[in-house]
Amino acid sequence: MQQTLCRKFFTLTALLCAPLIAALGMSTVYAAGGKYTSPNQVAPDRYVYYPGTEKLDRKEIRVTACGTGMPAARHGQAAACFLIEFGNGDKLIFDIGTGSMDNIAAYMIPYEYLTKIFLTHLHTDHMGDLDSLWAGGWTAGRPTSLKIWGPSGLHPELGTRAMVDGFLKFVAWDKETRSFQITPKPGEVDVVEFDYKGINQVVYDEDGVVVRSIPAIHTGDGPVSYIVEYEGMRVVIGGDTAPNKWFIEHAVDSDLVVHEAFMVPGDFVAWYNQPPQLAWRACCAFHTSGQAFGKIMSEIKPRHGVAYHFLNEEATRYNLYGAIRETYDGPLSMATDNMVWNITPEGIRERMAVITEEAWSVPGPSRQGPPEQEGRRPVFSQFSNSGYWKPAYEAQDDAMDRHMKQFNLQDQDWRPQMYQMMDRMQQ
Ligand SMILES: [Zn+2]
Ligand SMILES: [Zn+2]
Repeated sequence: MQQTLCRKFFTLTALLCAPLIAALGMSTVYAAGGKYTSPNQVAPDRYVYYPGTEKLDRKEIRVTACGTGMPAARHGQAAACFLIEFGNGDKLIFDIGTGSMDNIAAYMIPYEYLTKIFLTHLHTDHMGDLDSLWAGGWTAGRPTSLKIWGPSGLHPELGTRAMVDGFLKFVAWDKETRSFQITPKPGEVDVVEFDYKGINQVVYDEDGVVVRSIPAIHTGDGPVSYIVEYEGMRVVIGGDTAPNKWFIEHAVDSDLVVHEAFMVPGDFVAWYNQPPQLAWRACCAFHTSGQAFGKIMSEIKPRHGVAYHFLNEEATRYNLYGAIRETYDGPLSMATDNMVWNITPEGIRERMAVITEEAWSVPGPSRQGPPEQEGRRPVFSQFSNSGYWKPAYEAQDDAMDRHMKQFNLQDQDWRPQMYQMMDRMQQ
């Protein structure tokens, strides 16, 4: 309770909360603001995280909420997405819902490190920005393919493999043309589909990071929750799920537990335009209400609980918070986009990431090579080849010469062949 109050009223109580928490002997460490002792100094330890400025310790996990909202898009809150970074350098994306790539991009992590995606289920608010990562990373220098882990379905056509097959059909023109013009490997997607019914089954085990899945119950068979273990610490990513026995059994005693908590049904009627008959089923039958979320947390007793999947604003946050507090009085974050948790054996620290609206992709150590067009079927016909207007190409020749010299591209000059083709087509 005090922790949430500290967060909410940070500006007023920054100096009060730290001693309060210390006096209560709470394990969670809050960055409630440094202390000025003279006018000309910095105050360290503010309630902020600046992406790209902190190296993780070997025994440390950083979880960032890259999306916490709903399927109906809104500018300030993307749909479900949690990025987990580990002290060993591994980075795993759990769900990549609509709009979430805007946030991930703002963390300015080289795309070559953002290749592993774990989907809890196949609702678009959990995978709708797959296209942005796939194509955006490709154009911004990622040299490798993506890899997607996800559950099977009740029928083969409802599983993750079928979804990815369908996705690659959806982007067929995009994939064909980029493969020809850039390089093909980053357009490939590897799929690891596992049985959604597996209980605490290992789906990933690399360099000390272990990811297990348990079944979830949500709108139909297929969804799962993930349990992530590293250096003796455990993070649970619930995805979407109604209260279920597997979660109670396997998420117990974890460090950070992220579980959905839906707005109260009246707010879905008032603010989300849902008919009342849908509102009370959506929140409280195939999702989890505030009271049910609280009951689950009180049962499994995480070191820190995280509620997400609600529109986090003044109009709705406190009704949900009140519902949760009817049944749970432990450590709690009401998640919103770009909230960050650092987890170590000593404590859990919640902060907000400070992001720039105009983030650029940051280069990593790898570089894509030139296109490999030999042996590929052409992407242009005579029709398009007859349409180029050469004077505009000639107008940029001096600029192209300067670029060629600056980057030593003399052996990759595409112009002679292209101009020859233009001249031939003119005849
Ligand atoms: Zn869902
Ligand atoms: Zn959802």
